[in-house]
Order: sequence, then structure tokens, then C-alpha cells
Amino acid sequence: MTLTTQILSQMPGTPLDELRRVDALWQSLREGTQPVPTVVQERRDAIDLAWDVVICGGTLGILLGAALAQRGWRVALLERGVLRGRDQEWNISRQELQVFVELALLSEAELAQTIATSFNPSRIAFRGSPPVQVRDVLNIGVDPVVLLETLKQKFLTHGGQLFENTPVDGAIVHANGVTVTAGQHTLKTRLMLDAMGHFSPIVQQARQGKKPDAVCLVVGTCAEGFSHNTSGDLIATITPIQKQCQYFWEAFPARDGRTTYLFTYLDAHPDRPSLETLFDDYFRLLPDYQQVSLEQLQFKRALFGFFPCYRQSPLKPRWDYILPIGDSSGSQSPLSFGGFGAMIRHLSRLTSGIHAALESDTLKRDALSRLHPYQPNLSVTWLFQRSMSVGINQTINPNQINELLAIVFQAMETLGDPVIKPFLQDVVQFSALFQTLAQTTLTQPTIALKIVPQVGLPTLIDWLFHYIALAAYAALYPLARSLEPWMKTLPPVPRYYCDRWREALKYGSGRDYGKDEG
Ligand SMILES: Cc1cc2nc3c(=O)[nH]c(=O)nc-3n(C[C@H](O)[C@H](O)[C@H](O)COP(=O)(O)OP(=O)(O)OC[C@H]3O[C@@H](n4cnc5c(N)ncnc54)[C@H](O)[C@@H]3O)c2cc1C
Repeated sequence: MTLTTQILSQMPGTPLDELRRVDALWQSLREGTQPVPTVVQERRDAIDLAWDVVICGGTLGILLGAALAQRGWRVALLERGVLRGRDQEWNISRQELQVFVELALLSEAELAQTIATSFNPSRIAFRGSPPVQVRDVLNIGVDPVVLLETLKQKFLTHGGQLFENTPVDGAIVHANGVTVTAGQHTLKTRLMLDAMGHFSPIVQQARQGKKPDAVCLVVGTCAEGFSHNTSGDLIATITPIQKQCQYFWEAFPARDGRTTYLFTYLDAHPDRPSLETLFDDYFRLLPDYQQVSLEQLQFKRALFGFFPCYRQSPLKPRWDYILPIGDSSGSQSPLSFGGFGAMIRHLSRLTSGIHAALESDTLKRDALSRLHPYQPNLSVTWLFQRSMSVGINQTINPNQINELLAIVFQAMETLGDPVIKPFLQDVVQFSALFQTLAQTTLTQPTIALKIVPQVGLPTLIDWLFHYIALAAYAALYPLARSLEPWMKTLPPVPRYYCDRWREALKYGSGRDYGKDEG
């Protein structure tokens, strides 16, 4: 019996069965045997519309559902199961949560109630190198149960209609809207938001069975019994490359114990390990990582998942009147599995953008695609993803990734909080990246020579293109901002496009981070 079988079968619920179910999905993705569903069809007729927005999927869908219902739109939300947050906290930074108050979705008191944990500092530590400490980054644990319940009540108060235990099974795109079908329910809407996650059947149809360009595998637990549980690790390594993977660790104090994750970046090659294999390694290495024996721990729950990432992200809408949001939209960087954080970062922009699209009736595919614009600061992170992973047949120095990351993070520490903090929150800015590259090259002039064979020249050239685009976006954003008073005088449709252009420059250059008000 493996450690995984032994420990997971003693936990409440049926985590082992669930792990094997997710593993079967991961295997079919690696082997390219996933069927491509046909859930969306097209017809040219017009329909009588009863809804402004129908949201499919309630986890992150309720965030936009509450915001749009509050603005007076007729919103329905269809959820396959019961709309309830998961037991495990979402980690995020405090200032990011303020958007709920700014959008008047939560009062300060309600926001405080959603915060289950708060800790400091957090460590970044790579095998064989001195650690770096940061404060106030991803150090807040949000309770998804409380957050989703509070937002659900707001949604209902503002006239939103919730359909639970109602799996969406089809959508017909017409000349003026969409008919959404879910069992015996048929809802005719001006706009459909697909919030059904990474494995949304609509996304699978839109991507036509394409294999992801990269995957992040994550396994972990929440457990009691650790002797030290007041600070966290944002990223740590304790081993060299093994099984063609660099293993990374994360640890956070949780409300009912300590959460520890093992994660790794790879491609979807058929020979890549299963989540169950990764879990075996997690249990084997956890004692060394946290200086604890497994017998000391009382495991509360198992946590696991895999996150497919596509270079073509965010996903552009494939049909009129259908917009992916949340994980289905692929809005987070390939380095992050913080899809909640990515949604929070874009919540204000998406709320005002969807509101403007509904007001100006610009709901066709091209107009909606402006809500998921090209973002060079997301695209540059592909190089980092590649430099933190190893090809299935590649031979590199087993300590190369550890050494590279130690050098880069020490350079960022030298440059200070304005450089390191946005990066750790998934926001890449041109000046911070430029300074980091300069500082790293100063301390290690040969670093590029080591990376090129690992990531390959095409990846590097592709990265250069996005790096230049990042510089251009950063340079153009002040111009777009200065034009804002003029944009406000435009009629609704051109204004919709101009505002989306300005936001693309702002978010694509990381200027949404911090106090920028533009
Ligand atoms: C182990 C782990 C740890 C994580 N930690 C963090 C973290 O610390 N911070 C962070 O920011 N993020 C974290 N995340 C990511 C975060 O949980 C996801 O980004 C978030 O749950 C995505 O929400 P979503 O609504 O887009 O998709 P999902 O969570 O996949 O939810 C999809 C929703 O759609 C519903 N649905 C699916 N199909 C249908 C259908 N046919 N009809 C109707 N409804 C349907 C589902 O029931 C579900 O409610 C973590 C994820 C994992 C796995």
C-alpha cells in the first residue's frame, strides 16, 4: 500500500476516489484522448430575450453575478451543484481584496468576516541558497464559504436568480443572443458568461481538443500537528531536479491547521507522472521540508489539481454573446494557480467592461474579445515557466533551476519591494523586469548562456517580442490616460472600444498594481 493510499483513505470523504477521477482526466489530457464536446451550436434566427446575463458556473461566477445584478441587469446563475465555497482558504494579498469594497459588493465589516487567516512573513528559499523574506504578500487566507455565501445573498437581494443543481448542457447562439439549456430549463439571454472552470465543455469545444502548452500539477494537504505555524513559504525547493521535474513547495498557516503544497511545471507528455505519484513524493518529502514526522500530523483534507495553460491566453471568445470568465478564460499566468487572485485583479475591469458592453449593445465576438485583450506582461511569463521546467528528454544540471531562481530572487530582493512584490502577485511590470534582468546579468554575466539551451532559442525570440511589447504598452499607457477626458465625450460604442484599449495598455503593462487610478 502506498503512503498516498494509506493516508488519503483515512481522511474524511472520499479523497482517494476523487484523486483517481482527476488523475484519469489528467491521463486523458496527456494521451490526447479527451473527446471534444459539441455544446454550442449556431442559428441565424432572432429570439425573444428574457435575461441580460446568464452565468454558467457559480464559484467565481457569483462575483460577477453579484456585481452585475447590483447594476440593475437581469442576471441568472446556473450552478451544476450547490453554490458553496470550498473549505480550503484562497490565499491572496490584503490590498487586492479592497476591490470588493470599492465595487460596494462588501462593506469593510463584511470583508473582514471573509478573512480567515493572516500571517507574516513569507519565505522564498531555494536549495543551497540563503532565503529571501517578504511581508504582506499572499498572506491572507480568504474563507470561500463565507465569501460566496455573502455574495450570493447580495446577488439575490439585487434580484439575481439562482438555479442550483442545474448543469448546463447546451447553448444555441442566435442573431441577437443565446439560448442556454440546462435539463428542462431554457433561458434566453443577451450575454452568456462561461464560468465553468478549466474543464468547461465550452472551452473544450473552443480549443478543439488542443493539448495545453504547459501544465502545473499541485498536491497537498491541510494538517494539524506542525510545531511551527506562524509564517509561510511562497516558494521553496529542497531537492534538485528529479523525474524530469523541479519540485516546488508552498506552506501557509490555515484556520484549521497548516496547508502545504508540492507543485511542479511541466508539459502534457504521456510519460509525465500522475497526481498519485506526485502525492507519494509529497508524503515522502514533507517530513524533510517541514521538519516533522508524518505520525505527528493529523490530516484534515487532501488538496490537488492540475492547471492547463495555453499560449493563446486569455481565451478569445469564439462565438458572439459568449464570454469565458474565471479559470475558463485562462486569465492567470502559467506560473500561478491563483485563479481566484487573477479574477480579483480583473473584477473591477470586467464589471465595468461587461456593463458597458450591455449598455452599448456591443456583444458580438469582436467586441467581447476586447475584454480579454493581449497582455504582454502575461505572455513574458512563459519564458519563466519554461526556465522552471525540464523537457521530458532534456539533460540539464540537476541544480540549474535552483541556482537560477536563487540568483533572480536575490537580485529582486536587492532592488526592493517595488520590484519583488508585484512579481510575487503575478504582476510583471517593464521597469521592474528590466531592473531585475540588469541586476542579474551584473551578478551573473553568463546566466543567459545557461538558460538558452534549457528553454530553446524560439522561446527566447518569442519572449523578446513580448518584452518589447511590454515596453511599448508601458510607454503608451500615459498617452491613453491623458486621452481619457476626451474618451468620456464619445458616443457609447466608440467609447466602449477606446476604454478597452486604455485598459489593455494598463493591465497589459501591470499599471493596475497599487495605487494607479487611471
Ligand atoms: C489545490 C488548489 C489550491 C488553490 N489555491 C488557490 C489560492 O490560494 N489562491 C487563488 O487565488 N486560487 C487558488 N486556487 C485556484 C482557484 O481555486 C480557482 O482559480 C477557482 O476555483 C476558479 O474558479 P472558477 O469558478 O473559474 O472555476 P471552478 O473552480 O472550476 O468552478 C467552476 C464552477 O462551475 C460549475 N460547473 C461546472 N460545470 C458546470 C455545468 N455544466 N453547469 C453548471 N455549472 C457547472 C462547478 O460546479 C463550479 O462551481 C487553487 C486551486 C487548487 C486546485
